Amino acid sequence: MKDFLGFRKLKHENETEVQISIKNAISITNANRAQYILIVGIIAEAYLIIFNDIFNIIESGWGSTNALFYLILHFIMFVASIFGTVRSYKFVRNIPFTIFKKTKIENLAVFYSFIFLFCVAIVNSLDQSFSDSITLYIAYILIVGAVVLIEPPLNIFVYLISHIAFIIGMVVFQKDSSILYLNLLNGTLIMLCSIVISTVFYKSFYEVTLKTMLVEKVNHKLEILSNTDPLTGLYNRRYFYQQMENVVGETVFPDNLVCILMDIDTFKHVNDTFGHIVGDQALVSFGHILKSHCQDKDLAVRWGGEEFLLVLFDTSVEAAKYTASLILKELTDSFVPEEDPNYKLTTSAGISIFENFTYKEIDMVISRADVALYHAKNAGKNQVCIWHTNLQPETKK
Ligand code: GH3
Ligand code: MG
Ligand code: MG
Repeated sequence: MKDFLGFRKLKHENETEVQISIKNAISITNANRAQYILIVGIIAEAYLIIFNDIFNIIESGWGSTNALFYLILHFIMFVASIFGTVRSYKFVRNIPFTIFKKTKIENLAVFYSFIFLFCVAIVNSLDQSFSDSITLYIAYILIVGAVVLIEPPLNIFVYLISHIAFIIGMVVFQKDSSILYLNLLNGTLIMLCSIVISTVFYKSFYEVTLKTMLVEKVNHKLEILSNTDPLTGLYNRRYFYQQMENVVGETVFPDNLVCILMDIDTFKHVNDTFGHIVGDQALVSFGHILKSHCQDKDLAVRWGGEEFLLVLFDTSVEAAKYTASLILKELTDSFVPEEDPNYKLTTSAGISIFENFTYKEIDMVISRADVALYHAKNAGKNQVCIWHTNLQPETKK
């Protein structure tokens, strides 16, 4: 599916999110660009009021309709530019704005561009009573198209309305028919060119933003996929090592860093008795239980098969042991298979602690937790064992 300018319409739900982000990005860009044109507007209008209109009035007196008309016009545009600049500044920086709170910045950008073009069209038409130039009109119409990135349908609307004003004004004020037709032709050509230019600007901006955001989104998704286990949603080993390398690479270390390695007891038997699906459900609920015990930086990792690792920051070994025993109990309580509601699913756990925060220690802490875990298995399963120097690897089952 394509929209009216031939842009690819997005289908995937993530891509809808991307479209919303693009809309926000376009709003911010509109507001940013509107800011630039409005600042130029403030300077131009102030210059015209001071060096043109006031001198005109001093020269020809207050009675001159033309001079007074220009002064009022420029003053209105001056105030509108200030108002618009403040509004767009607050919009870009997300500062709440009490007046016209509900007005979207795009609408304001359209409104100001419209006012500018409309006034320029009128002023330029008025100029035709004593000159034959439409330079001002050309300059403004190009600036508005190129600088203010309004969506093309709105741009077309702004240009068309202001151009109608230009044509009517021209017909009224330009008495020389050959100059009139030439200016009308020039004005129409310029207007059409501007619509094309602003559409091309918009399209290229839209496509670049769209591609960048899709790439960012896909990268983010790939990162999540490469770091997590699809069944339990827990982190995988890869992520664990990455995070631990970050921790030991820092200059300031956590007060305590404890690893709890857990292995479900006789899980093969669970699969054989209740089936793989029930086994999977047990693994998923283990994942939920582990996550519920994580705070801030803690990591819950699916170490492999029915083995899980919990990394607790700033936690003492005693507190980790207490947490592990809670987790073991929660898993037992959560596992109630239909065939045998009294079945007690148990888990063994081994605990070890980081001491020096070196790269070498990452593997060492895991192997120590592993030794403690197998000590727990050997001692009858369904228990937590803390690693200490007396536990030798030979005690492994
Ligand atoms: P122990 O008490 O000594 O730990 O015995 P165990 O049966 O738990 O250990 P063993 O290593 O013999 O068996 C682990 C079982 O875990 C075997 C395997 O089929 C099962 N398993 C591993 N990954 C999954 C999984 O993703 N889903 C299911 N349902 N089972 C799994
Ligand atoms: Mg195992
Ligand atoms: Mg096991």
